[in-house]
Amino acid sequence: MIVEIISTGTELLLGEILNTNFQYLSQNLNRMGFDVLYETTVGDNEKRMEEVLRTAMERADVIITTGGLGPTRGDITKETVMKVCSREGYLDTGIWRKIEAYFAKRGTVVPSNNKKQAIVPNGAKILENGAGTAPGIWLECDGKTFILLPGPPAEVKDICEKKLWNIMLKKFAGQGIILSRILRLRGIGESLTAEIIDDLIMNQTNPTLAIYARRGETIIRITAKAENSEIAGTMIENMQEKLMKHLGKYIYGADDESLAGILGRLLLCHNATIAFAESCSGGLASSLLTDIPGSSEYFLGSAVTYTNMAKNKILKVRQATLDKFGAISSETACEMAVNVKNLFGSSYGVSITGNAGPSASEDKEVGLVYIAIASKDAVYCQKHRFASNRTENKLRIALTALSLAIDKIKSENKNTAEKK
Ligand code: ATP
Ligand code: MG
Repeated sequence: MIVEIISTGTELLLGEILNTNFQYLSQNLNRMGFDVLYETTVGDNEKRMEEVLRTAMERADVIITTGGLGPTRGDITKETVMKVCSREGYLDTGIWRKIEAYFAKRGTVVPSNNKKQAIVPNGAKILENGAGTAPGIWLECDGKTFILLPGPPAEVKDICEKKLWNIMLKKFAGQGIILSRILRLRGIGESLTAEIIDDLIMNQTNPTLAIYARRGETIIRITAKAENSEIAGTMIENMQEKLMKHLGKYIYGADDESLAGILGRLLLCHNATIAFAESCSGGLASSLLTDIPGSSEYFLGSAVTYTNMAKNKILKVRQATLDKFGAISSETACEMAVNVKNLFGSSYGVSITGNAGPSASEDKEVGLVYIAIASKDAVYCQKHRFASNRTENKLRIALTALSLAIDKIKSENKNTAEKK
């Protein structure tokens, strides 16, 4: 069953608002087994909207529009669909009464142009809107199904979750379902990942594989289409097993798992605490860790020591170390890690010092970063090079620091079984 989603609204074309309705609709429709093959965005212009609707009728079975069901002149979706389907409408007194009641509840009189919202095309089904005034409309025309939804995302969700999904599942039963799983990788880029699993990618049909970079990480998405979720789940498991064989050492988690979440769990599990000393990452590693609810259990604090003066005054990095080796050095990184651990009295201290770019400093190359972790009686430092832009580098640096902390804590506690 081919679906086309038509998003209407000049504000979308101007880039003023993000098309979150499309994302919401498409994710749900795919999950239910529909083939969302086209997405079109069109402004509030009757002629162009008509063209878009006619094109959609040629290539899709189900056409879902969002936006333009409001009371203003610019809201023309329903009228244009009625024109394309050569369908007259009537004023639905039930909807009109609801609109009156909606306004009465807010102590205002209904503006007369709201009457437009109570017009229903002949033969259409009404999809009640529990979050606003304009109901959704289900209209069948020349073997195609039009589903008209309002623009505000809360109204779209209300209609879909209370009405539309059930109706669609019943009406178009036997679609099968589509399930996806995201695998998250660290320490490897998109292109090397693709190279390693080139065979699997070349031979993919169902499940399919997609590799992409997102927020400093490499992601592999496995998507399976099957009769039911059980079969799709098994297909995903089998593919994941194959991927683990090739990329196991890089895959750290699935779906919503994050490095910060894994580090947090690990610290909790070993009853340990952590503190950060951050320079070029500007506090981002600490920020990522504190995104995790309950992080106060193990995150004691951080010092963002951007200058040499701050490293010396706050973290007590020796001036001699800074003078001799510079701020971007393993010597400074190690002192920062040990000293921040002592400053906060934490089990672990993690430090980050380097150059996020774009220009070099201290005669050290752009993107050169030292990350160190100090534990009870050891300190370990890694040297890295990052080659993206400044913002992406900062994110990658912070994620690498979390990753290093995970590895170190795991290896130090190898013999202690992870409590669930
Ligand atoms: P209203 O009765 O509020 O006018 P409407 O059905 O006419 O609703 P629009 O006028 O097209 O819908 O959009 C109303 C608001 O809904 C927009 O200003 C925007 O904030 C939000 N909106 C519309 N389309 C989208 C979309 N595709 N993604 C996210 N938000 C959207
Ligand atoms: Mg509107």
